[in-house]
Amino acid sequence: MRYLGIDIGGTAVKYGIVTEQGEILSTAEYSVNYDQYETPILDTVLKTSQEFLDSIGVEAVELKGIGVSATGQIDSILGIVDGVGNSIKNWKGAKIKEELSKQYHLPVEVVNDGNCAALGEKWLGNARGHKNVIAITIGTGVGGGIIVNDQILLGNQGFAGEIGHFSIDYKGVNCACGNRGCYERYASTTALINMVKEVLPLINDSEFTKEDINGKLIFDLCKRGEPRILKVLDEWIEYVVDGLVSLVHIFNPDCIVIGGGVSVQQELFIDKVRSKLSNRVMSNFKKSLIVERAALGNQAGLVGAIYYFIQQNEKDS
Ligand SMILES: [Zn+2]
Repeated sequence: MRYLGIDIGGTAVKYGIVTEQGEILSTAEYSVNYDQYETPILDTVLKTSQEFLDSIGVEAVELKGIGVSATGQIDSILGIVDGVGNSIKNWKGAKIKEELSKQYHLPVEVVNDGNCAALGEKWLGNARGHKNVIAITIGTGVGGGIIVNDQILLGNQGFAGEIGHFSIDYKGVNCACGNRGCYERYASTTALINMVKEVLPLINDSEFTKEDINGKLIFDLCKRGEPRILKVLDEWIEYVVDGLVSLVHIFNPDCIVIGGGVSVQQELFIDKVRSKLSNRVMSNFKKSLIVERAALGNQAGLVGAIYYFIQQNEKDS
């Protein structure tokens, strides 16, 4: 049996035909912001999904259903976009489930992208075989998903797992969400870059300017043993661990998977998170806890959406 997986992000929509085992047979990617969202993303999806199916000679009747991973606050019960954190025009209110099922006469499930990535890692990635998982993606912001007893935690409407937005400092910096001291303001790659920019004038090195600073350069400097950058990295990792300690105590997971560009840094990042976390959580909580980097990269959302679809259908049948 085959499924259509759709991963809708802020810049592109990805398609894949996915088997019951999670194998991706064909894929395609289309821009969704080619005219600054004047064409609503959902219109682009309705059009380009048909183009994708035509291009590979697959008809909707051959498919069992459609699983959608989507950016924004997604009401998974209704399958609509209920809120948009950043400013994507014409996206809030999009009736993803209704429009896609009308066009293809297939069942459709829609879940937030962070939650899909968590499910993807549980199905086929480094959280495979684990029942209680915290998945965290570190990039320009911090996203994630929480799996409790094999099920993604959706909350009342599907918004749960916004782990970038619990506060670790009530006196902290303002966040776009309206709160103060949100975790992603300290634990994102953006935060790391800002922290490094602050110490840059203290480093005698004319090789680069503030504008050159990015995640990769920071880790390259750390590998060279630049002491001030290493110190900043260490402080930043404490912030990352800060949030994880709370999540471990609340959810008692057996697995934490960390994704995003920085997660490829095994020794300088993943290993350090593991050891700092181990020092800071209550001893009973670390007995069966593993900390790994995410394995699926940018395919996690696509397969995670299909895994959710399969789980829902098993429950219903
Ligand atoms: Zn926030």
